[in-house]
Amino acid sequence: MLDPNKVTLLIKNAGLKSTQARIAVLGLLMQSQHGLNHQELEKRLGENGYQFDRVTVYRTLHHLSEARIIHKLVGIDRSFVFAYIDEAISGEPSTHQTEHPHFICESCATTYCLDQNSYTQARVEVPVGFTLKHSELQLFGICPQCH
Ligand SMILES: [Zn+2]
Ligand SMILES: [Zn+2]
Repeated sequence: MLDPNKVTLLIKNAGLKSTQARIAVLGLLMQSQHGLNHQELEKRLGENGYQFDRVTVYRTLHHLSEARIIHKLVGIDRSFVFAYIDEAISGEPSTHQTEHPHFICESCATTYCLDQNSYTQARVEVPVGFTLKHSELQLFGICPQCH
């Protein structure tokens, strides 16, 4: 079971106020083995007895993303998926570095964060005049659940 104090501490360490919504949302993402989209999050919040309106959930996800405790990515159906940035995945607990590949299951549309060490960063040259700010590696296939 997840220690609620750990969740609160993470939020405070990121410089945010620990509201009930932030604790609930982050707690759910930390317990999930894969990224969750809005719908899934709202469903799970409901199952856990929380009643937050949609705007609150949106704002919470926004603030947690800004603080780099979680990150946002685009799922297979173009909906946003949110995932907790695990220290094991980021490799750098202090900076919560977000560059790691994602595996997207084509059968169940689940997005998984992969370990940063699972690939060597590809070198991509952009043409003159373009400024590259960030890149993302997405891998598509079948997850263990669907095999
Ligand atoms: Zn799957
Ligand atoms: Zn990820």
